[in-house]
Amino acid sequence: MKGYSSATLLIRGGTLVTPEDTFEADLLIQGERIKAIGHGLPVARDTVVVDAEGCYVLPGVIDAHTHIALDTGIYQTPDDWFVGTRAAACGGVTTVVDFATQFPGRTLREAVGARLEEAREAVIDYALHVMVTDLPPGREGELADLVELGTTSVKLYTTYRPNYCADDATILRLMSACADLGLLPLVHCENDALVTAQTEALVAAGETGWRHHGRSRPALAEQEAVQRILFLAEAANSPVHIVHCSTGRSVALVVEARDNGQAVSCETCPQYLLLDNTVYEGPEPWRYILQPPLRDPDEPDRLWALVEGGAVDLIATDHCDYTLAQKTATDDFTQTPGGLPGMETLLPLTYTYGVVEGWLTLPQLVGLLSANPARVWGLWPRKGALLPGSDADVVVYDPQPEGVIRAEDLHYLAGYTPYEGLRVQGRVRATISRGQVIYREGRFAGCKGRGRFVARRI
Ligand SMILES: [Zn+2]
Repeated sequence: MKGYSSATLLIRGGTLVTPEDTFEADLLIQGERIKAIGHGLPVARDTVVVDAEGCYVLPGVIDAHTHIALDTGIYQTPDDWFVGTRAAACGGVTTVVDFATQFPGRTLREAVGARLEEAREAVIDYALHVMVTDLPPGREGELADLVELGTTSVKLYTTYRPNYCADDATILRLMSACADLGLLPLVHCENDALVTAQTEALVAAGETGWRHHGRSRPALAEQEAVQRILFLAEAANSPVHIVHCSTGRSVALVVEARDNGQAVSCETCPQYLLLDNTVYEGPEPWRYILQPPLRDPDEPDRLWALVEGGAVDLIATDHCDYTLAQKTATDDFTQTPGGLPGMETLLPLTYTYGVVEGWLTLPQLVGLLSANPARVWGLWPRKGALLPGSDADVVVYDPQPEGVIRAEDLHYLAGYTPYEGLRVQGRVRATISRGQVIYREGRFAGCKGRGRFVARRI
């Protein structure tokens, strides 16, 4: 079945979930937009009916932290935007917010232009954060181009020498410039001195095997950097978003800043909610090489409790599609590319381990995966909402089937998943992107290049 489009599409008999409520209703889509929600909606002769009996009807998932076709300057993932967004679509993701990297010698406008060119093959819609790596004093004016381009968030790093790391002075200067323009900085927080010292000590001791990876980047490195970034944001009078919080203490620092009146948001990821550092002592530690690394076994429940309590704004994946061959090319953690594939399993895992396990309500699930990322990143209510007039990005999720995550069933190039063998409850029955069914009953039905760039406004 190829991706058919129809003037109208009726999703019938399902339970709609919004951040506020769950209720039984039909959802009528006309063209690319949601037209109406209710009972007994008019069905024209050419209306295509999607049966959602017994299913949840959710706003399409927004994965707001992905690295499709990643080039770090050192490592490259072998996927492209078609492969990457196809996997996303099969998992119920209808929008990604990915990154445009500023490579040395490039302007910000050139960085965005090059990335938009690559992303033309996307199956689903996409927005871009911009990784600013080379903007010396005097060039801050270039940030205004990002407002015009609709790429209104700036990624900064406190670690990764030599290519990404920004010192405090640079971060403060760029945050101040962002604040003037209304751009939202998002920051990877790990204290570079702590990470470097710990890594060098392990290397000096000859402890470079994968199982030592977790010890090379201590939790304290993350927590120190979160604290410092929050202070720098306060000094710059800038809002800030903290990416991939891996410990409860990091989130607690964000909560404290928020309680003090700062405009701060944060995210965590399925890997930090579901996995812990005991896997580094297991038979396949290479599966779990990522930055920040997995943490102590008591952290996942601590994070879930904070997510449950509303302290975490959104769950995103930090998806990177490095292959098994790349991950296992050497057994030296310092030479193994960091990052895990995750987009396709985001919804089933968060539903199973969040909702079924009792941490989250269905409205909270929709908040964390759709509405909140849309709000934080300036996509709402065009994206992330089941409202008349919103883009018709919808997932039909059947909560009945029981399954197990297996790499062979996923659509990545990776050839592995860090969640191999994990039980999941339910599966995506259909993914609808701007009114078009692009995945249904186990079959991808989208086409290359139908995805669109979503420009964001301040
Ligand atoms: Zn990332």
